[in-house]
Parts: sequence; structure tokens; C-alpha cells
Amino acid sequence: MKNKQSISIILSFLLALTFCTGEKPNTQPQKTLIGQQSEVSSTPANTNQIDLPAGITCLLKSYPDFIDSFDSRIIYLKDGTKLIWDDGISKSTFDELLNNASPKDMMSQCYKPGKSYKIPIDENYDPGRIRHEPFFYKMYGANKSEVQKNLVTIDWFGRKLKVTKINSVNKRLDSVKNELTKLPEDLHKYFTKTAGTFNYRNIAGTERVSVHSFGIAIDLNTEYSHYWRWQKPDSNGKYKYINKMPLEIVEIFEKYGFIWGGKWYHFDTMHFEYRPELLMEECTCKE
Ligand SMILES: [Zn+2]
Repeated sequence: MKNKQSISIILSFLLALTFCTGEKPNTQPQKTLIGQQSEVSSTPANTNQIDLPAGITCLLKSYPDFIDSFDSRIIYLKDGTKLIWDDGISKSTFDELLNNASPKDMMSQCYKPGKSYKIPIDENYDPGRIRHEPFFYKMYGANKSEVQKNLVTIDWFGRKLKVTKINSVNKRLDSVKNELTKLPEDLHKYFTKTAGTFNYRNIAGTERVSVHSFGIAIDLNTEYSHYWRWQKPDSNGKYKYINKMPLEIVEIFEKYGFIWGGKWYHFDTMHFEYRPELLMEECTCKE
């Protein structure tokens, strides 16, 4: 079992490496620079015009410091790294999808901001939980010490928390805190206590790295939180959705680019993470 796991980790690593070092296609597709997007799309006569998938547009808009451009199959990062948008591999199980997500897979489930969302949540509907890990390593740091170089301290209702300064996550969390402060007093118990931010570790029960490892996530008060792993599945193996986190709090986080784990089938209602790409209008659920 251990060997199998190791082989699968090595294979995933090699696959990720292939993505990062993949050669430019010979067909020389048109490259779309961020600043040129409107120019390209306003020239309908241009037969080379590329219709960017919405997921790409949302990534480009969300991470302008890191993404340079995109052609028909590759995302070019500013440091020269190439990420293959669609690996073309069909993943037969949800775990396989989580373990080997392409950027396209990452953008395949829409997130619904706001107070209304479908309950119960469809099985394996986890918008944001599917992550193309190489992209996060590139932005926030490839290992613990690299991530730590980017961490700064913020004050969270009297507690000092470490978060990344990359993509101004620290400033955004400060803005979240300032707005939370204005909520009615009876809601403060949910967020003034926190279960933490930066913690370099794998997700419980998996080989995948937790987003807490990058300093882009915060867990609120566990006393009022529910996590699918803490529940017993029913006789069909399904998890019953439970939430106590007030949605006024969720809306404030979303306003500053943080998605909420309470909108996942594999719910984690204390958990918020910085994923602005899923909150861009082009990529949110339309109904
Ligand atoms: Zn968390």
C-alpha cells in the first residue's frame, strides 16, 4: 500500500513537472497578453481571435502579478513557467480529480457567492476544493521556508496571526476584520476566536497539501463549526450537511476574495481561503 502510494506521489510529481516544463506547441497559437485582451476581442474580423475559456479569464484577472498570458493550451507565468490548462486526462474518481487536478479541473465547479445556495449540496460538489497545486506553489512558495519568507503578522481581534503578503492577502484579511467588527455584537462570537491561519501540513487523511500551508486560509471558531470528517456518513455513505456559521460573515469574506468551505459537499464551515478566481463574475454560478 505504502509503495503504491509512493509510486502515485512520484507519478503526480512527474506529471506536475511535465506541466511546468512543457514545450511551447509547434502550431504557434496566438498568445493573448493581459493588456491586449480587449483589443483582441474587439476585432471580430481577426480569424486568429481566441475565445478565452471563462476559467482562464478569471485566473488572469485574479492573479495579474503571476500570470503573463495564455494561448490555446498553456498558461504562461511571468517567471517563464508553463502550466497546461487541460491535461486531457479523464479522472475516474473524485479522489483522482482532487489528486491530479489540472487548472481546467480547478475551474470546473462554479462557486455561488451570497446568502442563497443549494442545500443539500450535491455529492462531490466542492467548488474551490479542487486545486492545481503547482500553481499555488509558484505563487506562495514551493516549501515551508519559502512560504515563511512571505508571511507577515496581522492582528485578529487581539490575536497575532501569520498570513502571506502575496496577492495582498494580509491587507484583504485586515479589511475583512474591519467589516466584521461592524456586525451586530451577537455575531462576534463566531469570528473573534480563530483556529488559526498558517500551518504547513497535509489535509487530514490525504497526501494533498492544505491551503493553510500557503498562509491564504483562516479557520474561525471551531465551537460553532462543522467539518464533514467529524460526521458519521449515513448508511449510503453520504454526509449530512450542517452549518451554524452566519451568512453575513460569509458575505464579508467573499467580498474580499475569500471562498467559504461551508459551500462544499465536503463541508468545512470554519474555513475561508483566498480564491478570487472563483468569485469573478464570469466564473460564479449563474443560478
Ligand atoms: Zn481551514
